[in-house]
Amino acid sequence: MSDISKKIEEMESALSTADHCLSCTSCMSSCPVMEAEKSYRGPKLVGPAHSRMHFSQDDFEDSLDFCSNCKSCDRACPSGVAVSTLNMLQRAKYYETHEHSQRDDMLAHGERMAKLVRALPFGATFANLGMSIGKSLGVFSAMGIAGERSMPAYASASFMQLFKGIKQPKSDKKVVFFPGCFINDNEPQVGVAFVKVMNANGYEVLVDEKFNCCGSPLVVTGYLDEAHEHADNNVSRILEWKKKGIPVVACCTSCSLMLKQEYHELFNEEKMHEAGENVYDAFEFLEILADKGQLNTNFKQVGEKLMYHVPCHLKSQGFGVPAAKILAQVPGVTVEQADAGCCGMSGNYGFKGDKYEISMKIGEKLFNRIKESASDEVICDCGTCRLQIQHGTQAKTCHPVEILAKAYGK
Ligand code: SF4
Ligand code: SF4
Repeated sequence: MSDISKKIEEMESALSTADHCLSCTSCMSSCPVMEAEKSYRGPKLVGPAHSRMHFSQDDFEDSLDFCSNCKSCDRACPSGVAVSTLNMLQRAKYYETHEHSQRDDMLAHGERMAKLVRALPFGATFANLGMSIGKSLGVFSAMGIAGERSMPAYASASFMQLFKGIKQPKSDKKVVFFPGCFINDNEPQVGVAFVKVMNANGYEVLVDEKFNCCGSPLVVTGYLDEAHEHADNNVSRILEWKKKGIPVVACCTSCSLMLKQEYHELFNEEKMHEAGENVYDAFEFLEILADKGQLNTNFKQVGEKLMYHVPCHLKSQGFGVPAAKILAQVPGVTVEQADAGCCGMSGNYGFKGDKYEISMKIGEKLFNRIKESASDEVICDCGTCRLQIQHGTQAKTCHPVEILAKAYGK
């Protein structure tokens, strides 16, 4: 028996949920891919039904490739079936006997590429130029990447580089920031805003250079063994911080979901559950402060009409939408929730050439909602959702923590 098959057999918790399926089809009516792409056979069949057979047989359900891991099906299931995780486990099994494409290798290993870029003088400038020339010459399209999109540009300095220059007041109250690849390399201003917000609340922010990418891009492209290595490393770091009584906080909802919940669902190890208890999403943490009466509400006037797209991976964490509640207290800010479903991007899914049309079709309702609104800016806690919103609407976007930093006058 191969390593992945053994691993999957040991994962009783996710696998056994397949037997709880009642065939109610709630997952099917909530699956955005199924609605956009009629040839997708949907979560009920691909997840629970085929899980029972595919982990013991060698054939595969072709339409498994359509699943974007948005997790809408998991939220809809009244029976607690880990549908999306079953899909990702089956995808990993598929790649045990099938080659990954060069495109999937590239989309899964953004952290590896960013390290190469950061190691070179003016690496970000040259990489951005190379990506722009590559796009105009059709190199990315030839690899299977959606030619309609631009790859996200590297920021001239990473968050970790910028962090070294931030002067913070010392404090006994500390959090460790988990930036994740997208904030570290593409949108470091989100991480800088987070530091300012925590400082305004009397916290000192630490970073841990030993963290890896959370592994989400690896899981969705079927590199389960590598994702497990990332999980082992990150979990051991989180547990070290837990021993010191210092929580780990992330601003990207796909990273926080992975650290808090998906490691445990995918790999079924007690240490992952234990580590997950020491991880918070940024606004989840801020709401805890608010509930204790410890949130600094000395907000300055910020005149902004905001449309809020709540990411699927935030909804899956089940703590509501604290950013909407907190930002609504800022003078001059109005927050309206888009409530228009999935944006269609789902991490690297919308970058795939063969998934581009599906991705845009899923996002259509959200795009129309944003275009018809008179909002100044769209806020969203997920970096790749923000890319999709910019691409589909040309709207200005930011992370809600950037608005809060403004409210503190930072
Ligand atoms: S994770 Fe999303 S795309 Fe995949 S089956 Fe579930 S609802 Fe559909
Ligand atoms: S929602 Fe849950 S119980 Fe209903 S069909 Fe889907 S997996 Fe089965």
